[in-house]
Amino acid sequence: MRKGLLYVVSGPSGAGKTTVMEKVLQWEGENLVFSVSYTTRKPRLTETNGIQYNFIDRGQFDQLIAQGDFLEYAEVHGNYYGTSRSFVCPRLEKGQDVLLDIDVQGALNVRKAMPEAVLIFLAPPSLRELATRLRKRATEKKEEVRKRLDDSKWEMSHIRDFQYLIVNRSIDLAARELEAIIEAYRCLVTSREEEIRSFEEEMDDFIIESEE
Ligand code: 5GP
Repeated sequence: MRKGLLYVVSGPSGAGKTTVMEKVLQWEGENLVFSVSYTTRKPRLTETNGIQYNFIDRGQFDQLIAQGDFLEYAEVHGNYYGTSRSFVCPRLEKGQDVLLDIDVQGALNVRKAMPEAVLIFLAPPSLRELATRLRKRATEKKEEVRKRLDDSKWEMSHIRDFQYLIVNRSIDLAARELEAIIEAYRCLVTSREEEIRSFEEEMDDFIIESEE
C-alpha cells in the first residue's frame, strides 16, 4: 500500500496559514487530515481543546517529551508547540496524507526526521502588511505582536530551505496554490509505485489478440 504524504506548511504568524489551510482541508475532505499539535499556549476565545490544538501545561508537555511522543517540538514566540508522533505516523502508515501547520524550526526538524516531507512556505505580501494584519487580528497583546513580528524576520530568512513558496495576496489564490502543490505531489512518479506495479503486472500477462 502507498504510504501517506506529509505536507508541512510554515510561515510567519499572521501570514494566513490557518485560513488557507482550512479552505484546502474542506476541499480535500477525508483525503487529507490535519495534525492537531500540542501547545502550552493558552487557548484564544475562538479555540476549542482538541480542534485547533491540544492545550496542555508545561509539566504535561515535558512528560510527552520524555516519552518521545514528539516528532518535533519547539519553543515558538515564548510558548511550546509539538507535533504528536502517535497521531502522524500511524496515519502515514495507513496511506493517509497529513498536513502540518508548524513553525520554521519545526519544519526543518521534520525534514531531518522525514526527508520525504513536502515543505511549503506561506509568506505575507510584505512585512508591513503582516504587521497590519497582526494588529488588526488583535488576538495577541502588544508585546506579543512585537515578538511575533521580530521572529518573522528570522522565519522569512529561511524561505530558501523550503521547496515551495506561496505568497498570500488573496486567500482564494493561496488556497488554490496549496491545493495544486498537494495534487501535483500525489502525481509524482515516485508517489505512484503501486499503480506503476499494477501496469507492469498487466503488461506481463497482456496478450495482444489479432483482430482477424
Ligand atoms: P499560534 O500561537 O499563532 O497558533 O502559533 C504560533 C506558531 O506556532 C505558528 O507559526 C504555528 O505554525 C506554530 N506551531 C503550531 N503547532 C506547532 C507544532 O506542533 N510545532 C511547531 N514547531 N510549531 C507549531
